[in-house]
Amino acid sequence: MSRFFHTRYANLVPYTAGEQPRERTYIKLNTNESPYPPSPRAVAAAKEELTRLQLYSDPTAKALNERFAALVGVGADEVMATNGSDEILNFAFMAFCGADRPAVFPDVTYGFYPVFANLHGIPYTEVPLKEDFTVDVQGLCEAAGTVFLANPNAPTGIALPAAEIERILAAHPNGVVVVDEAYVDFGAESCVPLIRKYENLLVTQTFSKSRSMAGARLGFGIARESLIRDLQIIRNSTNPYNVNRVTMAAGIGAIEDETYTRENCAAIVKTREFCTHALQKLGFEVIPSKTNFLFAKHPKIGGESLYLALRGRGVLVRHFGAPRLTDYNRITVGSPVEMERLLAAVKEILEETT
Ligand code: PMP
Repeated sequence: MSRFFHTRYANLVPYTAGEQPRERTYIKLNTNESPYPPSPRAVAAAKEELTRLQLYSDPTAKALNERFAALVGVGADEVMATNGSDEILNFAFMAFCGADRPAVFPDVTYGFYPVFANLHGIPYTEVPLKEDFTVDVQGLCEAAGTVFLANPNAPTGIALPAAEIERILAAHPNGVVVVDEAYVDFGAESCVPLIRKYENLLVTQTFSKSRSMAGARLGFGIARESLIRDLQIIRNSTNPYNVNRVTMAAGIGAIEDETYTRENCAAIVKTREFCTHALQKLGFEVIPSKTNFLFAKHPKIGGESLYLALRGRGVLVRHFGAPRLTDYNRITVGSPVEMERLLAAVKEILEETT
């Protein structure tokens, strides 16, 4: 830290992104990317757009917003495109929280929430997950502030039914509830239709997972027009050209190829189920997942030891050091071939351990 860095950031601990190693070819099951390439239509549209990079992107993202809104069944004024869903989440912290309006989220959830809160000096309350790692809905209903809820949750992979989230929305008529649906396309129920009923709901989604576009950085906020307008004020005070031309074009291409997305999601769900059973057969306790990752622990080997042993065999998974999570690893669902390699490596490690 230089002597010029402002003291308000002295204690800021930045978000730790999953490793993106370059030094050798790993089987990468650590950052919940898709094992499949983006839609050929997205790729073609992105290539075509390269010839227009001398021009700024459309700050209203009109064409993209219209298509995305039609896809999720809302009005074009009820969506806003962002640079990944991390950006819309950051904007939501800025727009809807403050010293007098804390953020509220589960103690085990997406690790960026406390980072955003700390970045903006926002106090926050962490509501502990229940013993079985499910979200304490009653606890979120009772805590005062702006609620941030990943559904399905990360890194557990557990999803809440929309009816449970409605309880939280109804309990916070004077506060916004942000439902982060980064993983919703792998089997959970979306809360998007609830924006008709609740003016305090903001849903966030991403093209990073189900649409294989993590590197393009495209996310969305979906809410009533009044909330979207608030978020636009923040966006226009930060970076009006937040989504670049190539990403916008690729996003439209991906939306126009919804069958491709649905097929990839179905393939990932099938691999997830196969892999869940295979890990269970090897003695793992696997939390039932509605996402493109599994959260699993084994009674015979600690989470970190397994992570390191897999790394040594060229398979990267994600280990979290927090006390409640340390026995587990989060394993992205890759292609069937990648998962066979993971399972073979796990078998070898277990044989050596026992
Ligand atoms: N929410 C959750 C729960 C996530 O796991 C992630 C991915 N790290 C994000 C949001 C952000 O994803 P992106 O910025 O790539 O849209």
